[in-house]
Amino acid sequence: MELSWKNYLVKNLKRFWKQLEREAGKLEAARCDFFPKTFELPLEYHLFVEEFRKKPGTTWIMKPVGRSQGKGIFLFRKLKDIFDWKMNGGCTNEQKDETQVETYVVQRYIENPYLIGGRKFDLRVYILVISYSPLKAWLYRDGFTRFSSMRFTLNSIDDHYVHLTNVAVQKTEPDYDPEKGCKWMIQQLRQYLTARHGTGLVEVLFVDMGNIFIKSLQSVQKVIISDKRRFELYGYDILIDQDLKPWLLEVNASPSLAASSQEDYELKCHLLEDTLHAVDMEGRLTGKKRIGGFDLIWNDGPVSRGGNLGALVNGNFVANTHLGMYSPSAGT
Ligand code: ADP
Repeated sequence: MELSWKNYLVKNLKRFWKQLEREAGKLEAARCDFFPKTFELPLEYHLFVEEFRKKPGTTWIMKPVGRSQGKGIFLFRKLKDIFDWKMNGGCTNEQKDETQVETYVVQRYIENPYLIGGRKFDLRVYILVISYSPLKAWLYRDGFTRFSSMRFTLNSIDDHYVHLTNVAVQKTEPDYDPEKGCKWMIQQLRQYLTARHGTGLVEVLFVDMGNIFIKSLQSVQKVIISDKRRFELYGYDILIDQDLKPWLLEVNASPSLAASSQEDYELKCHLLEDTLHAVDMEGRLTGKKRIGGFDLIWNDGPVSRGGNLGALVNGNFVANTHLGMYSPSAGT
């Protein structure tokens, strides 16, 4: 909940940012700049309006905090659109009959997403946290990207087929074909980006992503009560912009394991198998840095990738990640 509810995630990241600024300085805190500016509504409505007025014409996205699969989301550019929503008692037409005011987050919309074939996509990455105290986390090397089915444009902000990449949204599109796909494996994406931008820039992008996983987990470390018998498998949603900067959109505590194609089915079967294996092996493991598709990225401190001890890329530590790399050989 501390990570997966959109308003808690914002609150925890903001608090962590301040703590880093106090304890480690502005430079270190700036490495937490991977979450688009966000406010909780109705609580922070006035703060939001202040920010809104600073940058007229910016696109914002409204998201109900406790829902998923793109439900209740809408984009806007005029305060008037929020007034309409406010007048409805903070709800959209579909929930008018419910009595409670629903909490939303309003977030700066990333207007320059990286496009492939003119279409927007986001990444789903899996992280297994074995314990929070001390923090011990594994990163799955496979994952996938979800494409929207319509070409990206800022001219039609009401069109969910253009702006939302959720499979639950895209599969309602009349021409949707699950096998033809709105998904790529992360390996395919990494290969595509490397061919276009070279290994160096893509390495920086993936190291920056590793930084997002670690910093977001650290931001909730102190507020999550660690239970020795509990583990968490998270599904991270990441959006890449045209400057190859990764943004954290949200963290799902119970990522969907439903499959939309054969490839997807295999990924999720292996993910489940490897998760059970990793959890079961805990305690009997000494010094292992890899279990199935999982690489240990944090073990009460950074875990370095072989040969890169202490190396920094873009100011970030090169963690033991193999996300999106083709490396079928078994390791330790
Ligand atoms: P949900 O929990 O309903 O899936 P998300 O926060 O994941 O909500 O948002 C749904 C989709 O909307 C994302 O997959 C992404 O395509 C798009 N989206 C969400 N926030 C932003 C943002 N700040 N900028 C650009 N696109 C966004």
